[in-house]
Amino acid sequence: MLPPGFASAPARSSYDVVIIGGAIMGSAAAWFLTRDPDFDGSVLVVERDPAYERCSTAHTNSCMRQQFSTELNVRISQFGAEFVKTLHERMGGDPDVPRLSIRNFGYLYLAADQAFAETLRANWRVQRAAGAGTELLSPDEIAARYPFYALDDVVLGSINTRDEGWFDGAALFDQLRRGARAAGAEFVADEAAALELAPSGARVEAVRLASGARVACGCVVNAAGPRAARVAAMAGIDLPVEPRKRFT
Ligand SMILES: Cc1cc2nc3c(=O)[nH]c(=O)nc-3n(C[C@H](O)[C@H](O)[C@H](O)COP(=O)(O)OP(=O)(O)OC[C@H]3O[C@@H](n4cnc5c(N)ncnc54)[C@H](O)[C@@H]3O)c2cc1C
Repeated sequence: MLPPGFASAPARSSYDVVIIGGAIMGSAAAWFLTRDPDFDGSVLVVERDPAYERCSTAHTNSCMRQQFSTELNVRISQFGAEFVKTLHERMGGDPDVPRLSIRNFGYLYLAADQAFAETLRANWRVQRAAGAGTELLSPDEIAARYPFYALDDVVLGSINTRDEGWFDGAALFDQLRRGARAAGAEFVADEAAALELAPSGARVEAVRLASGARVACGCVVNAAGPRAARVAAMAGIDLPVEPRKRFT
């Protein structure tokens, strides 16, 4: 039996956009596309594991941080935090959409030598300039706030307790899927098995599914997570993404 919201076969033979992978990135792509007033096309999301047993999204700790070394990453994360905190409003104030918040415990980075302490200071300058609330802490300041740490080998710490911590990622994922479906995106339980290129070789014109169906498309979004390189290879593209095991 298919999980709710999934069809066993696409309703049409052609879509403007086919998204391969229906976890958080694919569902977000579908949600943003279907909400875009400048987009009135059709969207198909193809997901090989519709129970989401094995995707990264089902295993995430759902923590976000603002501590990055480049301004762009800080800005992306600021947008992410804003998106989470305003999800209810962004979903039209629907009473069934929860109001999410971030539990701001912060990530505490610890430097055990001066070289890494200098990296933390450089990152702090980037983050502060972008408006993040990162603080540098001496070992004494860390001990005052977090007396349970052994700090003998620590020379500097860096923490941000604004928009940095845990949020309900499962609820966000659920709402993106519901929202995308409500706005017309179709989700199908199948696997993208091959991509057909246009004669020029410059664009994908159809996706072949493992069930045998052929779906013509205007464009393809590769949201296959750790399998993204496999999908890219179907279009002859060498994508430098490889799966690595991650534990919690
Ligand atoms: C243990 C763990 C903890 C983590 N903690 C955090 C954290 O605290 N904070 C954070 O920001 N990130 C965290 N992450 C990373 C985060 O989970 C991922 O970055 C994110 O979920 C990636 O989403 P995705 O949609 O790109 O990929 P995925 O969730 O892996 O989804 C890809 C989907 O594509 C589907 N797919 C693949 N190939 C095909 C195909 N050919 N046809 C159809 N479907 C296909 C798969 O079935 C899958 O559902 C963690 C990851 C792990 C594993």
